[in-house]
Amino acid sequence: MVSLRSAGPLSAGGSLAMHVAGAESNVAVGVARLGHTVTWAGAVGADPHGEFILRQLRSEGIGTQCRVDPSRSTGVMFLEQRTADVTRAFYYRAGSAGSTVSRDDVDSALAAGPRVLHLTGITPALSPEARKAFEYAAECAAADGVLVSLDVNYRSRLWTRDEARAVLGPIARHADILIASDDELDLVASAALSGSDSLGYDDAETALAASLLEQGVGEVVVKRGSAGAGVHTASGRFEAPAVAVTSIDTVGAGDAFTAGYLSALLDGEDVAGRLQRGAVMGAFAVSTAGDWEGLPSRAELAMLGATASGTTQ
Ligand code: ATP
Repeated sequence: MVSLRSAGPLSAGGSLAMHVAGAESNVAVGVARLGHTVTWAGAVGADPHGEFILRQLRSEGIGTQCRVDPSRSTGVMFLEQRTADVTRAFYYRAGSAGSTVSRDDVDSALAAGPRVLHLTGITPALSPEARKAFEYAAECAAADGVLVSLDVNYRSRLWTRDEARAVLGPIARHADILIASDDELDLVASAALSGSDSLGYDDAETALAASLLEQGVGEVVVKRGSAGAGVHTASGRFEAPAVAVTSIDTVGAGDAFTAGYLSALLDGEDVAGRLQRGAVMGAFAVSTAGDWEGLPSRAELAMLGATASGTTQ
């Protein structure tokens, strides 16, 4: 998908800037810039904006396992900076090439034998076919011993919370690493809260995370914006505060965090090291413009207080 960004109200017209957009491509850029081998899998139309996506990803050193579908268009999103604090999104992705991602596309992507498969809860919201491909991908990867990372990434413009819960709840048990914002945990673990309405928020998070751990999830990662992030595991709970920076554009912070977390995991860092790298990457995302453009190389991690190996100084 591409985003077309306006600097003011869309109804007033003016210039639009085209950028590659999408949670998965944001994560792919973040992980690739930190020096890992990454392949992005998906589908685009046979149109210039589809070609733009592939060129941009390849220029970041990202491999592409992409089906070009001449019968469909590449997805588009208008992003309107309506006020300094309010950005509105208008999606034109129904029926797009990306929404037709299929089981065959999954087979092609997994044939390369990745160590980690990263999925987002956006894909199954795009179409029934994409939902089947998403479920198939999680099941195949889990069966093949590929580490499955799932970011809930709830998008209210695409489906309701109940619809998301019905699809994401059953698939979450295939995740080795389940990543959610603090208001998304109940979409993958709602059953655990029955009868616990009187619990405080922190207790509720712990109960939801515990139910996921019981189902076999290895790490439940909870993002809390400027309040930092935490990880629940069978051996305990870990917390990392956000890195203090001047925030100018918060979009993409979660994806940057995920890229940092997965990159540190690939490097063999422990949970605390993964959290710290995630926090540094999230801080880069919020303190630079764009969803992914400001993400650092490995050497640049040190700008915000992390060493090249990712541990804080
Ligand atoms: P998005 O959907 O916009 O990508 P998200 O809700 O998935 O965001 P956040 O929780 O907002 O993700 O951010 C992820 C991480 O990025 C946080 O856990 C934190 O480490 C870092 N982060 C977010 N906001 C800030 C901030 N204002 N200052 C410093 N770090 C931040």
